[in-house]
Amino acid sequence: MFYDTDVIVVGAGPAGSLAAYILASRGIQVTLLEKTLFPRYKVCGGGLTHKILKEIPFSLSPVIESTIHFFRFSHNYGNVFTRHSADPLMYCTMRGDLDAFLLQKAIDAGAEVRMGEQVISFLQDGSGVTVSTKEKSFHTRLMIGAEGASGIVSRMAGLHDAVEMGLAWEAELTADPEDLERFSGTVFLDWGTLPGGYAWVFPKKDHFSIGVGGPATLSKVMMPYYHRFLLSLGQTPSSIHHSPSSVIHFQETLSLHSWLLPVRTRKSLFHQGFVVVTGDAAGLSDPLTGEGIYYAIRSGKLAAETCSEFLSGKINSMDIYSKKINDELMTELLEANKIKHIFNAVPLKIHSFVGNNDRAWKAFGKILRGERWYADVRDGFGKWKQFWNLACFISAILEKRKEKRYLKKHSG
Ligand SMILES: Cc1cc2nc3c(=O)[nH]c(=O)nc-3n(C[C@H](O)[C@H](O)[C@H](O)COP(=O)(O)OP(=O)(O)OC[C@H]3O[C@@H](n4cnc5c(N)ncnc54)[C@H](O)[C@@H]3O)c2cc1C
Repeated sequence: MFYDTDVIVVGAGPAGSLAAYILASRGIQVTLLEKTLFPRYKVCGGGLTHKILKEIPFSLSPVIESTIHFFRFSHNYGNVFTRHSADPLMYCTMRGDLDAFLLQKAIDAGAEVRMGEQVISFLQDGSGVTVSTKEKSFHTRLMIGAEGASGIVSRMAGLHDAVEMGLAWEAELTADPEDLERFSGTVFLDWGTLPGGYAWVFPKKDHFSIGVGGPATLSKVMMPYYHRFLLSLGQTPSSIHHSPSSVIHFQETLSLHSWLLPVRTRKSLFHQGFVVVTGDAAGLSDPLTGEGIYYAIRSGKLAAETCSEFLSGKINSMDIYSKKINDELMTELLEANKIKHIFNAVPLKIHSFVGNNDRAWKAFGKILRGERWYADVRDGFGKWKQFWNLACFISAILEKRKEKRYLKKHSG
């Protein structure tokens, strides 16, 4: 059987480029097809949790614009407090730069990259996959779908079940240079306002990235939330004695876009024959925080490792990939969903808990740093952990009610 390549990767986001990098580094013939031309703007906050750095086998420092040691929390725009961590919690990047950097690593490792090549269909037979773009066809032994939330590969492979959509808006705003300097290590987070969602400010080198996100069912009320959040950042909060230096003086809005946040709601298949799906294409984003880059990178890595084992003859089916994703990533994401229900049922209590309790703040930091996992949170409740699932179930009902009430009140 003639193959054009061993593995085709569809999409040059973090999932696709890291998968291509790993495969090429192992001497495997890999072709990456990307529909856009780089560099391109990607709608994303560009927040990288510390745990991402442990997954990437090279330094990301050329594309890191800020290192985060402070979180400034507000609840419903008020009750503001700032927490500090000596260890870095997060890093901020511009996604266009990060994606171009990861793609270059894949090229340097030997991956063949074809830009402006949009995959429109594929067909599997007993020996591999024929992948069609608008102009060409390629025959490959294996295919990795890393096409993001559009999910063309995952839908065509029948791997898009149980995926719910969230929605998020992202804006890039310039501000007073003194404010940029003062908040260069601080993330702003407003939670407990929009049920099931939150708003953020991520500091970048020469501007701030500001966004709001939550369930797509609240899409109508997200823009009003964004505007009120922006307004609150320019005013001294009344709940505390803040100096005028705690506000941000925004200047110009450079861009404002929305995009989807696909969230898988149960364990299921992530492979079909010779095709596996990764990252957003597989619905692997965190329902609590909207974080997707870590899951894209981790699943891209697992996909590349599984393809490599298959091609070397160590395994004869791609089943193991679904098992790895379910056991590791889905276990974690389903726990995140439970914590989300609890948070949204009693947001003010959790806000105060993080503000007043050092253990809670440290646990928050350890999760961002990948030193603890969501699955460990339940164990922190000691003898009460047996009531965890019941508490999550009741909280989910309260969360839905709050969402409906909020929608009714704010959609005019
Ligand atoms: C507003 C917003 C803010 C966010 N902020 C954060 C954050 O701060 N931190 C975080 O961790 N996550 C964040 N996320 C989530 C994060 O952006 C995604 O989870 C992440 O980009 C997923 O990476 P990926 O590689 O799976 O897909 P993508 O990054 O979406 O990459 C997919 C690539 O595939 C290409 N493609 C699509 N279809 C085709 C096709 N048919 N043929 C060829 N190529 C194709 C696309 O052009 C794209 O380059 C945010 C999301 C949104 C919407």
